[in-house]
Amino acid sequence: MFRAALLIALCAGLSLAQSHSVALTFDDLPLAGEGDGATAAEAARVNHAILAALARHHATATAFVNEKGIEKIGIAPGRAILREWLDQGHDLGNHTYSHPDLNAITLDQFRDEVVRGEASLTPLLAERGRRPRYLRFPFNHSGETKEKRDAVAAFLAGRGYTVATCTIDNMDWEFARAYYVALARADRDTAAKLEAAYLRYTADEIDYYSALHQRVFGHEIPHVMLQHANRLNAAVMDQVLDLFEKRGYRFVSLDAAQADAACRTPDAPSSFGPMWGYRWAKALGIKVDGRLEPAFPTWVGDYGKNPK
Ligand SMILES: [Zn+2]
Repeated sequence: MFRAALLIALCAGLSLAQSHSVALTFDDLPLAGEGDGATAAEAARVNHAILAALARHHATATAFVNEKGIEKIGIAPGRAILREWLDQGHDLGNHTYSHPDLNAITLDQFRDEVVRGEASLTPLLAERGRRPRYLRFPFNHSGETKEKRDAVAAFLAGRGYTVATCTIDNMDWEFARAYYVALARADRDTAAKLEAAYLRYTADEIDYYSALHQRVFGHEIPHVMLQHANRLNAAVMDQVLDLFEKRGYRFVSLDAAQADAACRTPDAPSSFGPMWGYRWAKALGIKVDGRLEPAFPTWVGDYGKNPK
């Protein structure tokens, strides 16, 4: 508990200056969750829509790339999309080559995934005198045993990586899966219902995680929002960003968010991929009840899974 008290005291000094801020992140570039249906044109459309919304809200973000997805839509069009993110002032990070589950692969296989994940990132960032600095674990699986977690962490640090945290998610991949089905069926009513349900759930999750951090640290720390490059976010990113703005959030870089003292709280090994607020609560011995987290709408999870 001494460590908790010390951290709270350290953080309290920062709380006035940093009331509400959030770093935006987008995973699975060039296009999340569309399997073999991904085309260069669709990936470009989705990324352009998200980038345009970010520009309208004067927000910069960090986007995490799966190199295999770049290969799938074509190296030239794939890298053109990545260049647009960099040209517009955003950063790119490594999300591994093929998005494997770290729980199911060896350390050697993971190392190979990270190195192959740099194939486009390294030359594109080098054009700007930069290099890949952040890695986000697929499924946020960061090592299910202490040995594996520590070995992976040492490898990443040696290669110059910082692990990207995330503190708010809104299960956008599940809403986006249903949205993809609705669009394929030309079911406009359901697509509109999904957009509305997604925004409601996102608002509830922002408020929930804001309160969770209050409980863990005694004040709100900078958030890191996890979303994906998908069609749903392409359609509603303006409204998602509005939700943050209405609550008084400033958009900050991942560097700024992760500079907070809270990010130096230890992380416990886990075979799940919880948001960092839960990990920090566990490390600090603070009891939180995950059952209080807003429920994901059952109908969204069911939609399109049973043949009609
Ligand atoms: Zn991912």
